[in-house]
Amino acid sequence: MTTVFIISAPSGSGKSTLVNVVRRTLPNLEFSISYTTRQPRGREKDGCEYFFISREQFEGMIQKNEFLEHAKVFESDYYGTACRFLRHAEQNGNDLLLDIDVQGAEQVKTKIPDAVSVFIMPPNRAELERRLRERSQDSEPVIQKRLKAAGREIENYRKYDYILVNDRLEDSVSTLEAILLSERLKRNERADEKLSARAEKCRLDQIRERIQPILKSFGDTAASGQ
Ligand code: ADP
Ligand code: 5GP
Repeated sequence: MTTVFIISAPSGSGKSTLVNVVRRTLPNLEFSISYTTRQPRGREKDGCEYFFISREQFEGMIQKNEFLEHAKVFESDYYGTACRFLRHAEQNGNDLLLDIDVQGAEQVKTKIPDAVSVFIMPPNRAELERRLRERSQDSEPVIQKRLKAAGREIENYRKYDYILVNDRLEDSVSTLEAILLSERLKRNERADEKLSARAEKCRLDQIRERIQPILKSFGDTAASGQ
């Protein structure tokens, strides 16, 4: 049976970096390439990071019910997951990894309640800003827009099954692998104590204190989780 893994994070937290590693290291895991109306960034190629399509094409796909979920992200561009990626993973007996925003995650959880969701957090706001600049693929107004959106997105952390703070990259990769592998084992009624102990540290009740300063750095609304 196919398990759907959802990964969300404020832009710049390091989600693509982590996802790219687990795509290489974990067998039987398919990745859904999303459709978007935004322009390609840096070296992005059509069909690789995204399928870059026009607004008219995107709206045509909505009409034809081709999306498992879709949303307008950053109030401007459409992003969506095509149903055919789920069908393909199911036909091949593989799991499916979705890199989607908070709105998309909610839609998928409604349709597939046993999907497993992971929220990636940066270590604090200043580090998120540094990573957005270091990536140097976005203009200053875009960086500002993404930082503002991050404050709102981070408020949704409670809706996720696991919360992973992406501080040291090697640790985050091992933790993400532990979450995916321990969930897989659980569904086959098996367990690996070490893996599940590592994954369980990312449950809200275990990580609540650790994330308080991170939320504070994004302001009081994020910290209250309202
Ligand atoms: P996202 O997909 O969440 O928008 P990226 O994966 O593009 O973010 O990462 C944003 C920038 O941060 C990249 O330059 C990446 O190399 C860097 N980065 C990712 N994870 C870490 C980490 N743990 N420590 C330091 N830099 C990181
Ligand atoms: P970026 O423009 O930085 O690649 O992505 C911006 C945001 O859109 C990220 O939070 C990313 O997870 C989200 N996103 C990417 N693909 C999809 C998708 O298919 N559906 C939804 N809802 N969000 C997506």
